[in-house]
Amino acid sequence: MLKIINPATEEVIKEVDEDNVTSIQEKFKKAKLAQIEWSKRSIESRINILKTFRNLLVERRVALAETLTLEVGKPITQSNNELKGVLDRIDFLTSSAAKTVETEIVFNENGMLEQISHEPLGVIANISAWNYPYLVGANVFVPALITGNAVLYKPSEFSTLTGLEIARALHDAGVPKDVFMVLVGSGVVGSELLKLPIQGVFFTGSYATGKKINEAVASKLIKVQLELGGKDPTYVCDDVNVEIAATSTADGAFYNNGQSCCSVERIYVHEKIYDKFVDCFVKEVKGFVVGAPTDPKTYIGSLARPAQIEVLEKQVLDAKAKGAILHCGGKRREGRGAYFEPTVFSNVDHSMLVMRDESFGPIIGIQKVTSDDEAIKLMNDTQYGLTAGIYTLNETRAKSILEKINSGTVYWNCCDRVSPRLPWSGRGHSGIGLTLSTYGIKTFTQPKGWHLKSG
Ligand code: NAD
Repeated sequence: MLKIINPATEEVIKEVDEDNVTSIQEKFKKAKLAQIEWSKRSIESRINILKTFRNLLVERRVALAETLTLEVGKPITQSNNELKGVLDRIDFLTSSAAKTVETEIVFNENGMLEQISHEPLGVIANISAWNYPYLVGANVFVPALITGNAVLYKPSEFSTLTGLEIARALHDAGVPKDVFMVLVGSGVVGSELLKLPIQGVFFTGSYATGKKINEAVASKLIKVQLELGGKDPTYVCDDVNVEIAATSTADGAFYNNGQSCCSVERIYVHEKIYDKFVDCFVKEVKGFVVGAPTDPKTYIGSLARPAQIEVLEKQVLDAKAKGAILHCGGKRREGRGAYFEPTVFSNVDHSMLVMRDESFGPIIGIQKVTSDDEAIKLMNDTQYGLTAGIYTLNETRAKSILEKINSGTVYWNCCDRVSPRLPWSGRGHSGIGLTLSTYGIKTFTQPKGWHLKSG
């Protein structure tokens, strides 16, 4: 049995049956058969089912947000935001999919017709993270189902109840039970799933696990997509409105307790405004309400995984030892629950873990730079490459800097933002492949080239 624990109170919420080798194999067999029938349906009928799923999320939003908050410690307002945000994604995917994967005639002369069609991959594994289960889940299972695949969905063991609710809503909407199946359990269940003859694996999680998955399936020669971590930098230039930039980047660093793949994880500030920026930033962070995730006033709840506290403590000790200045936080909160106080360091540099390793928690380092060139060099001094941002009033300066940054997504005067219309892809240790945009629909299909000669 898998114990579901509320990280804010340490209470067991529920116990759920875990999958085992036999049940995983059974589910795969059923999915294999069901996928054939599912793929024969028209894309319009599959899209309609996903639209119904969307409407069920709206109807059930209050209860679903409560469940999410209980199991991952996400503040209730942010759980509600996630459930609203996912609608925009589903709307984009349902409205663009048919056109994106329709058969395309690319040549038609002298009785020779050439066309490209897009066929589903088959049965795919969707191994997911807990930090935004609706958003990162929907990036995969919505387009995968629309394009005719069956999905074996392994939610994170830290967001199991939400995973089961997602399945219930999909089934109630009309997705056949065997076309979308949940595998309950930890990484062990995930690794068993990878042993089956799946036709694709779409993973969201850490670099460490992504690497293991890549190695585990290498000899299968199947499609592998890995959406992994980040150490996302933001550079604040000397020409900005300091208060606005500080407020925006503080939200980008601390929203969802810093547990977003695209959270701001490092800040570089031009020396001309450095002291003022640090003051404004710290003032903003000190105003964040830390408290029970169920309280609508709470901005920072508990961390989802108590184990992450050790990572944060290690970064704090390392930064202090190397001369960083601690402005607030720096320790776990006394009492029950996986709470860590929002933590801000200045006087940091790249010898420190806080500026190099993904923190995935409420901690940030702010480093002084003397020029745009220095900022660019530091921003690119990472193995990750998910997102990067710049704050400046000068559009030309922004674009010229962002062009030189090695990451899949770049931001000007904003951060910690995902759009369904743009590809979401990482470079380096942030992963391979992509979701979202029309590319993120096609990626769940395999092209077939047709050479058709009449007569
Ligand atoms: P994780 O790597 O610990 O776990 C992710 C999933 O992998 C879970 O479902 C887990 O049970 C499963 N798993 C663990 N070991 C496995 C194995 N050997 N084989 C198969 N499956 C296995 O990550 P997490 O803590 O759930 O998520 C946090 C990480 O995810 C952060 O690094 C974050 O940046 C990243 N993330 C990235 C994106 C993105 O879009 N790039 C989005 C959200 C989260």
